[in-house]
Amino acid sequence: MTLDFNHRPSIAERINAAVDAALEAERAATPPRDYLGASRLGQSCERALQFEFAHAPKDEGQEFSGRSLRIFAIGHALEDLAIKWLRAAGIDLVTRKRDGGQFGFSVAGGRIRGHVDGIVMGAPAATGLRTPALWECKTMNAKNWRETVAKGVTVAKPVYAAQIALYQAYMEATVPGLSTNPALFTAINKDTAELHHELVPFDAELAQRMSDRAVRILRGTHAGELLPRVAQNRDFFECRFCPWAERCWSLPG
Ligand code: SF4
Repeated sequence: MTLDFNHRPSIAERINAAVDAALEAERAATPPRDYLGASRLGQSCERALQFEFAHAPKDEGQEFSGRSLRIFAIGHALEDLAIKWLRAAGIDLVTRKRDGGQFGFSVAGGRIRGHVDGIVMGAPAATGLRTPALWECKTMNAKNWRETVAKGVTVAKPVYAAQIALYQAYMEATVPGLSTNPALFTAINKDTAELHHELVPFDAELAQRMSDRAVRILRGTHAGELLPRVAQNRDFFECRFCPWAERCWSLPG
């Protein structure tokens, strides 16, 4: 008998490689955003946002893996379930315009845009919801979900809080009342199926700060100026997970 020391891919490895290749090809064929997404503006590093907006190539090996793409897709599928559940509870949740398009806004000549998960147009009195209210939904693993429940979305997930504030501000013209009524934030625990809901009052100061930041990024990019780093050294937490870290730290200043 001859021993074969070469690893033969298992059925799981072979199928997963095919799935990942298909997802990665689909992603590669999707044109990149040509606008600043309001959902990203709360990200703490303006330079990273600038790289993203300018489509700076990510460092080697930093493109989204098939697994990351599956995580995003599962999140979207779970959000669709949350819509069904809230509607079953008697909440009038509108997620599409009459023409089927998503609700959203586009400002600064289309260079800043956002798409909202939904708008609560009516709700049973027992829920205590004031309507119309912006609805934002996220899926999280158990650890992040527990932290969000314990601290509230504003403290636990400031990027989401920034997104909510911006959406409330920019959607007010389309749906009057969205910035006077608190938004409804829903978080789904992917591990346990628990649901968290919380009201998020409009934070005008946060919306203004994020809007000013968007303008800085657009101006800086237009003028070819690199915005400042979030950190003084590369060991900083955000930098360790940044897909442009090589690029960023190889540039002067
Ligand atoms: S490496 Fe750090 S400072 Fe540079 S863009 Fe990324 S997060 Fe910002």
